[in-house]
Amino acid sequence: MQVSRNRIVSFHYALKVTGEEFSETSLGGDPVSYLHGHDGVIPGLEDAMSQREPGDRFSVTVTPDRGYGQYVARALQRVPIKRLVKPGKLVAGKQVVFDGAHGRQQGTVVKVGRFNVDLDTNHPLAGKTLVFDIEVIDVREATPEELAHGHAHGPGGAHH
Ligand code: ZN
Repeated sequence: MQVSRNRIVSFHYALKVTGEEFSETSLGGDPVSYLHGHDGVIPGLEDAMSQREPGDRFSVTVTPDRGYGQYVARALQRVPIKRLVKPGKLVAGKQVVFDGAHGRQQGTVVKVGRFNVDLDTNHPLAGKTLVFDIEVIDVREATPEELAHGHAHGPGGAHH
């Protein structure tokens, strides 16, 4: 079965960032699952998945505009430490969650002060060119429930 709108795609990936040491992979765990055509993955990856079949392997390079967006300088914020959720030991580079103006937000610690912390709220992969090695594991029709929710259920998808 081919990847197309309203089908559930399961895949393994290895991700590298051009010019950096960073790498990440789903190998060794469950494949990732998403509902195709509903922004379940970044646009550059979703486009490259179209019409693939189980067993297909391919590489795709995704630029920031088709990935996690451009890096924006104004996404730097000074946040009171008391608004962090379970701050633990704060060091530069640590990922934290805080109660922001529009609900829970994620940020990366840039600088720690006595009462405040400077956070970078860009997505950690904003502004980066990403190289994915993909293996398509499974493609199936979405259930009515998955279509109503707009995402995949089961291993690699949402659990609720
Ligand atoms: Zn759901």
